[in-house]
Amino acid sequence: MYYPKIQIDLKKLEHNVKTIIDLCKKKDIEVAGVTKVFCGHPEIAKAYIDGGVSYLADSRIENLIKLKDYKLPKILLRLPMISEVEKVVEYADISLNSEIETIKELSRASVEKGKIHKIILMVDLGDLREGYFDEYELYKGSEEILKLEGIELLGLGTNLTCYGGVIPSQKNLRRLVEMGKTIEERYNIKLNIISGGNSSSLHLLLKDNKIEGINMLRLGESLVLGLETAYGNRIENTYDDVFQLEVEIIEIKEKPSLPTGEIGRDAFGKVPSFEDKGIRKRMIVAIGKQDVDFDTVILQDAGVTILGGSSDHLILDGTDSEVDYKVGDKLWFKLSYGGILSIMTSEYVKKEII
Ligand SMILES: *Cc1c(COP(=O)(O)O)cnc(C)c1O
Repeated sequence: MYYPKIQIDLKKLEHNVKTIIDLCKKKDIEVAGVTKVFCGHPEIAKAYIDGGVSYLADSRIENLIKLKDYKLPKILLRLPMISEVEKVVEYADISLNSEIETIKELSRASVEKGKIHKIILMVDLGDLREGYFDEYELYKGSEEILKLEGIELLGLGTNLTCYGGVIPSQKNLRRLVEMGKTIEERYNIKLNIISGGNSSSLHLLLKDNKIEGINMLRLGESLVLGLETAYGNRIENTYDDVFQLEVEIIEIKEKPSLPTGEIGRDAFGKVPSFEDKGIRKRMIVAIGKQDVDFDTVILQDAGVTILGGSSDHLILDGTDSEVDYKVGDKLWFKLSYGGILSIMTSEYVKKEII
């Protein structure tokens, strides 16, 4: 036994994937399963494949390399760095792009390897992360791409609710679809993919039962947590506890709730403040800020609350719990998206797949 550990239930994950793919398939929308939240772990990605995703997608090429033995087409989500184009054409079939300089380098690398690399051009519909904001530049970019060897213009994509918090709507996505049509007519080509965003676009399917003109979504959080992320609502018939964290108690003591002595800065340079609740049963568990932000973990025992902690310690108040915890006992947490991401990235947390 080794703690802390994160337990990943592949049956639950596959169930979530199937539920959401069912929803999308009815509307002819293909799903790219986004693997970045679990660092492209191949065994976990297998649950995506068994659940029926059409593509595997990740923001980092290192993660796509881990997935290289799977046959499904792979998408690099983050705009490629020019310094990594060789790897990109080797390990990704498709990449999201918005810079013609980079696409020219992808073309060169792709020709060298005798490959065809596919491009989804990104359009910024107002969220202000990646993509062409200016329509004229988008058309100019498309025209240039069509002249390049070793490159195929596969379609258009957009990303919303990531930086600016802009919520996908039938209206803003219609602009993307229209731009796609303009490119098809102007250059007499067919665009195979109009990729309408991430888990935040699912609310449109749930509410309006359609997303006109969109035939692909790139989904991560909705698959792992069963959430549509525009408003944070649960998707029916999904699990929110595919990933669970288990940590061990290393100290339990009755202590006052106010520190003794003059208060300076804590380990992270902040001056802390405290509320006097008298003597409390305090517990320390062996996990810390180096592993996870405490705002992203949710205790399964609602009687226990988080007091704070430092890089390697999480301090809890167990006074109100019905459980009589002993040193060495374990506590379970659910995790939000950011929690899963950082716990999966921490080499100190064991990954247990069930
Ligand atoms: C992370 C990411 C996604 C997936 O987002 P979720 O909210 O987890 O569904 C989709 N597209 C891009 C470009 C991303 O970076």
